[in-house]
Amino acid sequence: MKKRILITGGAGFLGSHLCDRFINEGYEVIAMDNLITGDLRNIEHLFPLKEFTYYNHDITKFIHIPGKLDYILHFASPASPIDYLKIPIQTLKVGAMGTHNCLGLAKAKGATMLIASTSEVYGDPLVHPQTEEYWGNVNPIGPRGVYDEAKRYMESITMAYHTYHNVDIRIVRIFNTYGPRMRLNDGRALPAFFGQALRGEDIVLFGDGSQTRSFCYVDDLIEGIYRLLLSGYTLPVNIGNPSEISLRDLSEEILDLTGHTGKITYKPLPKDDPKQRQPDITKARTLLNWEPKVSREEGLQRTYEYFRSLPPEEWVKSPK
Ligand code: NAD
Repeated sequence: MKKRILITGGAGFLGSHLCDRFINEGYEVIAMDNLITGDLRNIEHLFPLKEFTYYNHDITKFIHIPGKLDYILHFASPASPIDYLKIPIQTLKVGAMGTHNCLGLAKAKGATMLIASTSEVYGDPLVHPQTEEYWGNVNPIGPRGVYDEAKRYMESITMAYHTYHNVDIRIVRIFNTYGPRMRLNDGRALPAFFGQALRGEDIVLFGDGSQTRSFCYVDDLIEGIYRLLLSGYTLPVNIGNPSEISLRDLSEEILDLTGHTGKITYKPLPKDDPKQRQPDITKARTLLNWEPKVSREEGLQRTYEYFRSLPPEEWVKSPK
C-alpha cells in the first residue's frame, strides 16, 4: 500500500517541489493550500494523476482528511518579507493555529510531522555561522517579528506534542532557497535582481550591499528534507548552502549571467534586516550524509531560464 503524505502549502514554491518529489518516490500526495501566496500553476501538471489530490483549504481552520496518513509536511506560511509584512496576522495564525491543527491531525492519524522552520529563528545572529544550538537574536515586536516568532512558536508547540503526546516530529530550519517557481516580485533579493535585469532596470541594493546571504538551490533543499523525514531524528536540523556571498557580489553575478548593462543603485537598509546568514550544516552532513551539490552558477542559470520562460507581462507584475 502506498504511503500517504499531506503537504500543507503544496501550491507554493517549496511545497510544489515536495509534491513532485514524493509523487516520484511513489507516494500518494495530498496538497492543501488556500492560495494566499501560492499558485495552482505550480501543481497543475499533477492534477491528472490519481495519486495526487488537491484541497483548497485554510489550515487555520479544522483540517479533515479521510483515511490513513503516514506523514505531514507542514509548509503553509507566507515566507517572504513582502508577504508577511502585508499579512502579519495571517502569518502568526498559520504558524500558531495552523501548526496546532496539523499536530492534532498528526496525533489522530499517528503520522510523522515535519515542520518547515527557518533560519529566521536565529534573527539577526550574534553567532556566525549558526549552529542548531544557537537560540537566536529576535526582536519580537519588530516588523519581522510576526514571522520569526510564529516560527519559534511553531517549533515550541511541535516539540511539546512530541514530548507530551509522543507525536513523531522533524524540524528543518531552512536557509534562503531559490529556484524555479519562486515569484519574481516576492521581494527577496535574488528574484528582485532577476526581475530588474529582465525589465532592463537598474539593480537596487539595500544598504551598501555588504550584507551576506547563503543561497541553496531548491533541488538540494528537497533532497535534505527527504533524508531528514526518513531519518528518525527529532531535533532541529539546518538545511542550507554554507557558501556565503554578499548581495553586491550576487547582483554582479546576475548582471553577468543576464548580460544586463544597468547600473547598481543603493537604498537604505530595512529595519532589522539580518547582516549575515550562514548555516553550519555539520549536523546534516553527519546525520543525513547530505550536502548541497548544485553550484550557484548552475542554480542561477536554471532559475534564470525559468524566469525568462514566464510571460513578459509577469516580469513587470507577478500575479500575487
Ligand atoms: P510560498 O509562499 O511560495 O508557499 C507557502 C504556501 O502556503 C503558499 O502556497 C500559500 O498559499 C500557503 N498558505 C499560506 N497560508 C496558508 C493557510 N492558512 N492555509 C493554507 N495554505 C496557506 O513560500 P515558500 O518559499 O514555498 O515557503 C514554504 C515554507 O518554507 C514556509 O513555511 C516558509 O516559512 C518556509 N521557508 C522557506 C524558505 C525559502 O527560502 N523559501 C526559507 C525558510 C523557510
